[in-house]
Amino acid sequence: MKKTTFKPIAFIPAFLTIALLVIVEWKVKMPMLLVERFFPGWGWIEILVLAGYAAFIFNKLYDIRTSAVWRRRSWTIFAVFFFAQLLAGLLGCDECLMTGKLHFPIPALILGGAVYRLHIGFMPILFLSTVILSGPAWCSQLCYFGAFDNVAAYSHKLSNKRLVNRNVVKNSFFVLFLSGTILLRIFNAPLIYAIVGASIIGIIGVLIIVFFSPRKGKMTHCVSWCPIGTMIQYLKFVNPFRMKINDGCTECMLCSLKCPYDALNREDILKRKPGLTCTYCGDCLDSCHGNHIEYKFFRLSPVQSRNLWLIITVTLHAVFMGLARM
Ligand code: SF4
Ligand code: SF4
Repeated sequence: MKKTTFKPIAFIPAFLTIALLVIVEWKVKMPMLLVERFFPGWGWIEILVLAGYAAFIFNKLYDIRTSAVWRRRSWTIFAVFFFAQLLAGLLGCDECLMTGKLHFPIPALILGGAVYRLHIGFMPILFLSTVILSGPAWCSQLCYFGAFDNVAAYSHKLSNKRLVNRNVVKNSFFVLFLSGTILLRIFNAPLIYAIVGASIIGIIGVLIIVFFSPRKGKMTHCVSWCPIGTMIQYLKFVNPFRMKINDGCTECMLCSLKCPYDALNREDILKRKPGLTCTYCGDCLDSCHGNHIEYKFFRLSPVQSRNLWLIITVTLHAVFMGLARM
């Protein structure tokens, strides 16, 4: 097992996690932390645990030798915790639900729900805030659904074969999904139609994760199907972070074997930047022996840029761990 030494910079996401969760504790009337809901007055213990978690995960992600494994682990823990709370809620534990009102746990409904109801609620605002703060990090560490696609893609060897017709499939489905939702809205269709549609989309998504992602060695659901993933690949540019491949690249193609998001095909490498589906996850960094794949944030160095992105993303991840539930 590769050992990592503790880096003092890991205290920054820990402090930020404490600061954000203390604000939530003070400002939001309803108890948001799980411990606070069961043991009023003891929420600060959960805040400290989450701060320690943020420092630990930051340290593991900071080291490019361990970052891919720990990104997968931490993302999976988050998603399992999220769905465990949902299951407990369905079994009658109201404290494990956000408001007591159940929704479909499908990312597509962040967009679909807002269009169908003509109302921008908590989830779309949360989602857009993450895009503004950390670009595509939603799809590398924050989404409760994509974590399972990540596990599925890594369950077999990752592949460097590009996903054929990926853009045609994802863009067509996105247009179909959006127009279907708009039509439901215009014709004021009964809720049951929306529920049936959402169920079909969710079931197809799960089938893609189970049957395609392991076989393709890529996160097929996230890069070819999910409408939120499609939105993020364009919306992420409102955020100033970027990934690029510098001119020292020798086109050895080793990194193309390490991208679960199908963003390091030959043409991407020749263009010296990962493709649109790149989520800045960092899984490829360790594969480039010359460190030619770099984070970019204005005039900061690649290392400083990556550290800043990790601080923001890990803080969001730890805060979501404490607050995200249906
Ligand atoms: S593509 Fe969709 S399911 Fe995948 S991580 Fe992004 S929002 Fe989640
Ligand atoms: S190119 Fe690298 S950082 Fe971008 S998605 Fe692929 S593995 Fe992650």
